[in-house]
Amino acid sequence: MHARLIEDLHLTIILIVTLLVCLFVLPLAVFRLSSGYYIVAVANFLVVGVTAAAAAWAWKTGTTYASGIIISVICTVGVLVSTFYRGIEGALWIFPLVMFVFFLSPPKTALALIATAIGAITIRELALPASIVESRIHLISFLATSLSTVAFSFVAARSTKNQNKQLMRLAAKDPLTGLKNRRGLEQELQFAMSAQQEIGAEYGLIIIDIDRFKQTNDDYGHSEGDRILREFAHLLINSLRMNDHAFRYGGDEFVVLIAGTNAAGLEAVCENILTRVRATIRVGERPLTVSIGAALQGPDTDTHSWFQRADKCVYRAKDAGRDRYIIGCKDET
Ligand code: GH3
Ligand code: MG
Repeated sequence: MHARLIEDLHLTIILIVTLLVCLFVLPLAVFRLSSGYYIVAVANFLVVGVTAAAAAWAWKTGTTYASGIIISVICTVGVLVSTFYRGIEGALWIFPLVMFVFFLSPPKTALALIATAIGAITIRELALPASIVESRIHLISFLATSLSTVAFSFVAARSTKNQNKQLMRLAAKDPLTGLKNRRGLEQELQFAMSAQQEIGAEYGLIIIDIDRFKQTNDDYGHSEGDRILREFAHLLINSLRMNDHAFRYGGDEFVVLIAGTNAAGLEAVCENILTRVRATIRVGERPLTVSIGAALQGPDTDTHSWFQRADKCVYRAKDAGRDRYIIGCKDET
């Protein structure tokens, strides 16, 4: 549980909000029920119930995005009902609401919810003066303080969202070649599996391992090795169609995912990579060579066994003397 909370900030915030709601709103609901404020009491109980249910759902299924929005909406409704029936006592909750909502929902959704709440409170106060705050000057103070909090929360939430996006991109990218890395590959393999099941699209997986690369590093130095890796990545990108993807799996091993192909198409891509590498990339005086293993998705329902079949072909290509491709090995492991 501890590890899950550290890893998933969104889930942690949902649980903190739920705890606070149970700690503060639940006693208020009971108090209002006993004081005869039934509508506000019902609204408060709804806030507690829906928040707790959404948090339990998030915990069970990991669906924190939808749960966050549900909690934001119900808390906003709760604050509005309390404000309309209990005046400033309810309106004060707008400040923690701003914090909750900007943590729990995407910035634009949060902004829309809070703007609706502040707008509704303002219209109600203008239509029925002194129903929420004592005077116009109090209304202006309320608007100034709540809108300033909203503005800063919005800017902070937007910048956090952009930084997270940037981090996700960097985490899926290999810094040396600029290709997507192993993490990026796992996402695309899952996508390919769903595409096959849903629309019957067939994908081909190609694994390429550079031949005798340790020797290249030993003979020409690590930085020359790096240059070759970059040149190879560049060649891969230029050899593929728009919908195909290249990845650096690790070390001198690369993976290509070919969309909408068949056995002949996969063979053509392998042949093309093999001959272009030989013709264009040099290691000192000799051409660079690679060994390639490839497999069509076939009947595999999990990405692991599909990958294993292609990987086995790479071993066979190495054993058979390198500088060649082999397609469609059986997974005998
Ligand atoms: P084989 O033909 O059997 O593939 O022989 P190999 O020497 O290529 O063996 P292997 O694929 O196991 O070795 C990969 C080597 O790639 C090991 C390591 O020295 C080198 N390597 C891994 N990452 C990098 C890197 O980022 N830069 C450089 N220059 N070399 C790397
Ligand atoms: Mg190698």
